[in-house]
Amino acid sequence: MITFHSTRSTTDSLTSKQAIRKGIADDGGLFVTDALGDTQIDVASLAGKSYQQIAQEVLGALLTDFTDDELAQCVRDAYGEQWSDPAITPLKPLGDDYILELFNGPTSAFKDVALQILPRFMAHTAPTGDPNEKIMILTATSGDTGKAALAGFADVPGTGITVFYPEGKVSQVQQLQMTTQAGSNVNVCAVRGNFDDAQSAVKRIFGDHELAKRIDDQANAVLSSANSINVGRLVPQVVYYFSAYAQLLERQVINAGDEVEFCVPTGNFGDILAGYYAKMLGLPVKHLVVASDKNNVLFDFLTSGTYNRKRPFFQTISPSMDILISSNLERMLYYMSDKDTRLIQMLMNDLNQWGAYEVPAELLTKIRQLFGCGWADEDQVRAMIADCWQKNHYVIDPHTACGYYVMQQMPRDPLTPRVLLSTASPYKFPRVVNEALGWDASGSDFDCMDVLAEHSGTTAPKALRGLEHADVRFTDVVDIDGMPAYVEQAADRL
Ligand SMILES: *Cc1c(COP(=O)(O)O)cnc(C)c1O
Repeated sequence: MITFHSTRSTTDSLTSKQAIRKGIADDGGLFVTDALGDTQIDVASLAGKSYQQIAQEVLGALLTDFTDDELAQCVRDAYGEQWSDPAITPLKPLGDDYILELFNGPTSAFKDVALQILPRFMAHTAPTGDPNEKIMILTATSGDTGKAALAGFADVPGTGITVFYPEGKVSQVQQLQMTTQAGSNVNVCAVRGNFDDAQSAVKRIFGDHELAKRIDDQANAVLSSANSINVGRLVPQVVYYFSAYAQLLERQVINAGDEVEFCVPTGNFGDILAGYYAKMLGLPVKHLVVASDKNNVLFDFLTSGTYNRKRPFFQTISPSMDILISSNLERMLYYMSDKDTRLIQMLMNDLNQWGAYEVPAELLTKIRQLFGCGWADEDQVRAMIADCWQKNHYVIDPHTACGYYVMQQMPRDPLTPRVLLSTASPYKFPRVVNEALGWDASGSDFDCMDVLAEHSGTTAPKALRGLEHADVRFTDVVDIDGMPAYVEQAADRL
């Protein structure tokens, strides 16, 4: 059976169920498995398979303590009628390239791919000693994870969910999506700070053993994470890379074994890391291109070898990528350094203590052979939304537009198809999109949605358009220091 341990030490040996339930390792590291790549997915067999069939195969390769029946049930429930496209993640031509739509789930961002299935995984992870033990999911969000996690966990028996978002730093639609969430087990709270502050505080809460003990005593609950630090979020994202490949095979764009390039709008490095996992599982990936917004810490890292979070934080029109501490990079460094836990521990100590670390030159060279990078400022993002509409009659959101820009900057090899991952529906950011396209953006965000629909000939997702008249349930705001107490109170209500 495949086991998991921390990126920073090899002492743990957890099953995937235990790793999913626990979320993050005690030493602050992320769970990884040394068996990644031992099982290879046969890409020649992908053509003609449904998303659900591919999911069963990919998940089965990494979550080996789940039975086939358990996985089949999770997959069936997670990738059903709640998706507006039967392909789940449809691949569409975009000029000479392709775009993989990841936003057709219930909350209109790619986070749904993982967060529709994570609660279903969790339901199978109760410890044998205490089947009544509850889970409190704790999540910091830069805008999209929060709603997708709420939608996934609302009213799931045995669970509660608490979401912290940075006050004033998410879009109006994103905020309303969260603060109007129904369900008896949900808690939503704004935090005075940015996403990095909130994410760091959440990581500290996971490391607070006294708080954990009080919550265990008072509520018989454990804390877990729905951020992409949880392996249960990462692994489902591997599936759509294989699905993209299957769709390219079906379109006869490639033959089995041909290489493909992916360009990925990136923040916490979860989405693109899933592409790296796909490669390790046998997907012929030539390059993975990291596309950042103006918070270009990853671009600087990949070009210089120094990761430095001591820099100004920019609040941009792509809020879900406004991140300076890119958590999942740690997993990539682990694998790329040939599983050197001591190196990872040293680098992460440097990051905590000094706000920066530098990787050895050979390691950087190795990383750069696979990972490309680029970034777009806000003017470029706006220009690309317009460019993509003019050239393709296809509206992209500001996050996807970062990727679109970076992809245009890359040299194009006509023999290698390029796939741009589209991470959110433009209807989540209707004002920015309309402004970029020169369409009326003077009214409310809902007026903007209507204008966008009319001009583009598309329809606003019902769940987003309906927010206009939804009741706001949550108005709490806390300081970073107030987060642990908020969590404890939420756990008491479980
Ligand atoms: C979360 C998010 C991203 C960044 O994904 P990571 O896995 O954090 O790199 C990009 N775009 C959108 C719309 C997102 O919600």
